[in-house]
Amino acid sequence: LVDPKFLKEDCKPIKEDSLRPKTLNEFVGQSELKEVLAISVKAALYRKEALDHVLLYGPPGLGKTTMALVLAQELGVKCRITSAPALERPRDIVGLLMDLRSKELLFVDEIHRLTNSAEELLYPALEDFRLDLTIGKGTTSKTRAIELPRFTLVGATTRPAAISSPLRDRFGITQRFGFYNLKDLQEIVKRSARFLELSMIDDASLEIARRCRGTPRIANRLLRRVRDFATVKCNKKLIDIDLVDESLKLHCVDERGLDQFDRRLLSLLASHGGGPVGLDTLAAALGEEPATLESVVEPFLLQIGFLQRTPRGRILTLQGQEHIECH
Ligand code: ADP
Repeated sequence: LVDPKFLKEDCKPIKEDSLRPKTLNEFVGQSELKEVLAISVKAALYRKEALDHVLLYGPPGLGKTTMALVLAQELGVKCRITSAPALERPRDIVGLLMDLRSKELLFVDEIHRLTNSAEELLYPALEDFRLDLTIGKGTTSKTRAIELPRFTLVGATTRPAAISSPLRDRFGITQRFGFYNLKDLQEIVKRSARFLELSMIDDASLEIARRCRGTPRIANRLLRRVRDFATVKCNKKLIDIDLVDESLKLHCVDERGLDQFDRRLLSLLASHGGGPVGLDTLAAALGEEPATLESVVEPFLLQIGFLQRTPRGRILTLQGQEHIECH
């Protein structure tokens, strides 16, 4: 339930997809990043140019895709959405680039996963808005250059260090998404509750904000589970803190937003005398990919000070130890 990765149900019904803010004004939090992007958008509109290429990075569920859609809306252009694994064959990326119109946005999620051949095609496209196509094979092959309209690539990644430096250098604007503070999260929960036509006491929205790991996607997901509980278990019209507590207990989400997987990770460290335990050992013991552990699970545990990364491995902090002893 508190996995920040995108799950299909996150925006299945059209009505719930409308939980995504549409404009910069509606976009809650991330004020510094918003200010930087707002200036770039205004400048691009003033000069009637395409926005410079943008790289957005940070843990999943913090609003990178949403921000790409917001930028397109603010610029009055379309945003095409894809992800690097869908661009494996050169023809996938050629097709996409040739289909773009002037000033449009191309959003590529998980951009660190682009193949070398896709990256090679992208370099001239990003820099000179030109596609270099090789026609034929061997000694008779020819290169043909095709001009592309000026477009904006918005790349998103949870692992900025895994992006090759030539690709990274081609982004004019790079912005990091951090976890949201309680006030902003509560505002997001209240906003979503309004869209879902739920009445909620302030304490209840604050409790969801506390348990969502600083992540709007999880906040919305928890809110939907609370709504289910309210509908089925007690038919309450007004959602209060007891209802939030009871429904999240059912899903084993504790008061800090940790689930059983997080607690297993912390317990594992505790059983190794608090660490250090290497990432690979930890991942093998938990049955998870090291990269997922590093970019999806750990960032929040680091943020709340339950875990530390050292060159020799992961260490459980005193706070982490205390938390695990209480659960
Ligand atoms: P990412 O691309 O970083 O994984 P998304 O942009 O898909 O995250 O955001 C996940 C969900 O969280 C969205 O559907 C949206 O409803 C919500 N969300 C994200 N950022 C915000 C925000 N700043 N304000 C309100 N809701 C947000």
